[in-house]
Amino acid sequence: MHSKITILTGDRPTGPLHLGHFVGSLRQRVALQHEYQQYILVADLQGLTDNGSTPQKIRDNIPEVLADYLAAGIDPALTTICLQSALPALAELTALYMNIVTVARVERNPTVKNEIAQKGFARSLPVGFLVYPISQAADISAFKAEVVPVGDDQLPMIEQTNEIVQKMNSLLPAPVLRHCKAMLSDTSRLPGIDGSAKMSKSLGNTLLLSASEETIHRAVSAMYTDPAHLKVSDPGQIDGNVVFTYLDAFHPDKTKVAAMKAHYQQGGLGDRTCKNELEVCLQELIAPMRERRATYIQDKGMLMSLLKKGSERAHDITQQTLREVKLGLGVPVF
Ligand code: ATP
Ligand code: MG
Repeated sequence: MHSKITILTGDRPTGPLHLGHFVGSLRQRVALQHEYQQYILVADLQGLTDNGSTPQKIRDNIPEVLADYLAAGIDPALTTICLQSALPALAELTALYMNIVTVARVERNPTVKNEIAQKGFARSLPVGFLVYPISQAADISAFKAEVVPVGDDQLPMIEQTNEIVQKMNSLLPAPVLRHCKAMLSDTSRLPGIDGSAKMSKSLGNTLLLSASEETIHRAVSAMYTDPAHLKVSDPGQIDGNVVFTYLDAFHPDKTKVAAMKAHYQQGGLGDRTCKNELEVCLQELIAPMRERRATYIQDKGMLMSLLKKGSERAHDITQQTLREVKLGLGVPVF
């Protein structure tokens, strides 16, 4: 039991979860929870780094994300779900790590750079936002996680975490922290329903795990295909065709999708038929999650008590890592 490898992932409670989360990370977590010691962190402090003036938004989305986890198949008996702000060791490790990372290094992180530009922060950039990769390194290393199932936007965070682990371990008489590896899924970056690079809460191009039948229908109908594919008999392009990207990501029958692609490229397969195929598979995927979720979200007391229990369990583990780091650094531990 204690020899199981540890997984740590998390989500910012900035809104309900969407299909990007599902294929990028959540689906793996559901599968991996049986073989690994898994922790999921509801990263409310990280959510606040770009929502500092609207804390209520973060507070309100905590139960939303919890309901999504359970609806997707996360089993709290197998996975410990915990709250970042309830684990003070994470903040303390962040404070210690901040001294071994340069401003130049955080500014170079491509994901952070991209997000700063996207959010148009300029001089109003919150300090907390700039350094969130450091707090993420604290999160991962506090659990001594070795595997992190994430979307590809998180690769720079894993790289930075490993640099911090390396540097911190070199300051200690014996290594305390573990290196970690990203685990990418087959769809490590799901485009938005508008065809833009990434489905993201901040970009408003999502299909939620709680989407209604009508919303799914409208999203698929409006999806971008091949603009040059005018007649059914015309040969069509697969590259950049969002309908096929989604069929690859979600359709359970890969052979059928391969045959559809060949047919489409050759000519003779209409966009309508492809969209119908996609809509059926998305409706089938989302309907049971939407139903389960509707039940869970009615009992916020149950959801929050589950989070409290998980946080209590995670408290001891993260405190222990903090203690080992402090002792190694020669910080008095009372
Ligand atoms: P925000 O816009 O608030 O940052 P987000 O939609 O990017 O929200 P996060 O909470 O930042 O979601 O991401 C949680 C996890 O889901 C991360 O592992 C991230 O890589 C993954 N993820 C998010 N969006 C996608 C996507 N479109 N494709 C694949 N993985 C994704
Ligand atoms: Mg994000």
